[in-house]
Order: sequence, then C-alpha cells, then structure tokens
Amino acid sequence: MKKIILREDEMPTRWYNVIPDIPNGLEPPLDPETLQPVGPEKLAAVFPMGLLEQEMSQERFIDIPQEVLEIYKIWRPSPLVRAYKLEEALGTKAKIFFKNEGVSPVGSHKPNSAVPQAYYNKREGVKRLTTETGAGQWGSALSMAASRFGLECKVYMVRVSYDQKPYRKFIMQTFGAEVAASPSMDTRTGRAILARDPDTPGSLGIAISEALEDASAHDDTNYALGSVLNHVVLHQSITGLEAKKQMEIAGEYPDVIIGCCGGGSNFAGLMVPFIPDYLDGKKIEFIGYEPASCPSMTGGKLAYDSGDVAMMTPLLYMYTLGHDFVPPGIHAGGLRYHGMAPIVSALVRDGIVIPKAVHQMECFEAGILFAKTEGIIPAPETTHAIRGAIIEAMKDPKEPKTILFNFSGHGLIDMAAYDNYLNGKLSDYSYPQEQIDASLARLPKVG
Ligand SMILES: *Cc1c(COP(=O)(O)O)cnc(C)c1O
Repeated sequence: MKKIILREDEMPTRWYNVIPDIPNGLEPPLDPETLQPVGPEKLAAVFPMGLLEQEMSQERFIDIPQEVLEIYKIWRPSPLVRAYKLEEALGTKAKIFFKNEGVSPVGSHKPNSAVPQAYYNKREGVKRLTTETGAGQWGSALSMAASRFGLECKVYMVRVSYDQKPYRKFIMQTFGAEVAASPSMDTRTGRAILARDPDTPGSLGIAISEALEDASAHDDTNYALGSVLNHVVLHQSITGLEAKKQMEIAGEYPDVIIGCCGGGSNFAGLMVPFIPDYLDGKKIEFIGYEPASCPSMTGGKLAYDSGDVAMMTPLLYMYTLGHDFVPPGIHAGGLRYHGMAPIVSALVRDGIVIPKAVHQMECFEAGILFAKTEGIIPAPETTHAIRGAIIEAMKDPKEPKTILFNFSGHGLIDMAAYDNYLNGKLSDYSYPQEQIDASLARLPKVG
C-alpha cells in the first residue's frame, strides 16, 4: 500500500496529553518578576481558560470539541505515506513512512493548533487575536482559523520576512487578517526599538513582545502562540494518534520516530502518542532534528528562560540558547527559535528523546531527493526531518527497520530558498559556541 487513509469517522475524537506520563514531570512556569510559579489568574490576561486548563491538565485524554472536529475535516485525517521511491533511490532495506501534514489549507501542521485556539477564544467571548509570525506559517494558520470563527486577527510579522517573503502575508490578508511589519509603530516596544534602530530586520522575540503588549492593552483581545506551550503539543497529538492507527493498518510499528524541531510541536505531536508503549517496554527511538545554526537542544542549556526579548512571557524550563540569541538568516525560518517546548525538553532530560543537529546544505540536498522521488517539495523546515530519516535509513542499509517521520509542510511558498540553494547562494553555518555561551550568561537568575 502506498498511502493509508483513514475515514472521517476513524479520526481520533480526543487529544492525548503526555504530561502525566513524563517520568520526571514538568517544572512549573515562573513569573518573570517574582520568580514564583505563575497562577492561571495572571495568564488569563492573554489566554482563555479553556487553553489554560489544558496547559496544566493531568488528564491523559481530552475531548476535541465538535466544532473543531468539523474544521479538522477540511483536511484531516491526513495521509500516512510509504516513501517507496525514496527507499529505492537510497538502496535501503528500511521502510520509510511519513505523515503528510502538508495537506492542510495553509500547507503545514500549524492549523492543528490554530483551529482549537481560535475556538476556545471565541467560546469565551474574545473578539480579536494577536500573534507573531516569522516566515508566516503560523500567521497564515491562525488567520485561517480566526476567519472560520469570525474573530479579528492581527499578526506582527518579522520585518525581513514581511519585505522578502510576501506570499504568506497575502494569504493572511486573504483570510482577513491585519499584518504589521515588526517592529511596528503600533506598540510601545516597537516604537522604542525603531527609535534606536530604524533599519532593524526585526526578530521573532520582538514580534512576540509586540503581540503580547497589544493583547494586554486591549480587553477584547487575546494572544495565541503557535508552538512551545503544552496546549499546542496537546493539539498536535492528533497527528501521532492518527499515525498510530495507520501504522497498525499497514501492519507495521515504528522503530524510529523523527521530526524537525523549531519550538518542538510537530515532532512532539507525532511522537507523544507512542510514549505509553515506550514506557511499557516497547523499543522505539525518538529523534528530534534541529538546525546546527540554531541548536537549542544540542548546543544550549536546560534552564529557566523567557520566551521573548522583552521578557514579558513567563519563564519556561526548557532547552534554550538565551532569549536574546539572534539566529543567523537560515532558510528554515520556522526552526529559528531560541527555546524548545518544555515537554520535549523534559523528554530529552529523561533520556527518551535523542536530539541531533544537521546542516542546511545536507537538508536541502535531502529535500530535493525527496521531491524527485516522492513528488512533493518539502518546506525547508521539513527537510531536516527528511535528512534525519535518510541518516537512519543509511546507518545500516541492510537492516529492515521501520522509520516514521513527520512531513510538517510543503515548500511551495518557499521556492526562493530553493532558488538560493540551486544557485549556490547558501552555505552551512554553525553558531560559534562562545556566542551561545555569551547569550546563556544572560539567562535570568533563578534559584
Ligand atoms: C513552524 C514549522 C515548523 C517548526 O515548528 P515546530 O513547533 O517545531 O513544529 C516545522 N515545519 C513547518 C512546515 C513549520 O511551519
């Protein structure tokens, strides 16, 4: 069978929450001022209770609301595909499966969380959502979701992407969202940064600060985050729950599960539903691939850190490169974040997830091989997972192991990156350890 498709009535109706199954648990988020655990009251200023309950929940399974299931059905259940032609080209005995999240309306896994986030905000009377976006994948997902529920949406888009990658901006505007280049004149944070440095390219950290400030300043407005937080990982678990059923139909079970890691949500979403089996003694390797140019797990430190430059977010216990780390301009925009989801971080700490770093040139090469063999052009982020799957398949090409990876998105709106690669304009870049150490020296001092 080339691809395994579930019927709509076989789609999971509950998300899986891995938190109670993390062997050594999670550390609580801290208030950046008092350094005490933050209560839901404070977070309720920018998040709806429905999501805050999920953020802290100890329930293993949480019902997916009917309204969310109906919208999921636009593209879910997503196909599980066996990459026969890739296997053949590699000459490996390994079986390579991928979960194709590129079939969503905006071409990535991000709507899996954007839709429930818009739903819970709508249910609690919120009128408007703010968010940040780098290359625009999260911004387009949230714009789509907000439009489904009749919410206004304002997206602070990192200046360089706003200028150089306009197509996702047009997608957001098509769904009715307002898009501002960040830093903008619309917030105090943005105006202060522009006064100092009018030509700044902006950063994800600055855009988060602006979106948070906007949400805090308006009663009818909440903030939405596309990765990192526990509720995002919960929503993304739909991919792993479906994949588990599909692997069963294929008569296979994965020996290795792979994903690319920016904030960690697509990798975690595919992998966490397999954790209970792992804890029951099943042998599975979980490998998260991050870029060598933004190596939170392989080059950073497990510590409390802020999610943004202005230190407005609660401090999260996570692998981090430091909240003022400025990643280089690599093309996998969605992997340029200084921190890693606390859930993924805890699983690395507990020795369940193995983190590895790969360079962008080998990833593009893998992406092009995938395009030529499987016929789908992957997002630059996704090429990191593909490279990872190839590394696993080629360790011992005679070993008949089963590999499952998350195909987090297609690359049809990222063709400028491929153009640069094909015309020799890209090179590898490892972040110098001294600079990582310098930014880690500025971590908030906790305990
Ligand atoms: C945003 C994005 C990522 C990285 O985000 P995670 O939270 O780590 O999943 C990966 N792939 C694609 C296609 C993305 O849009």
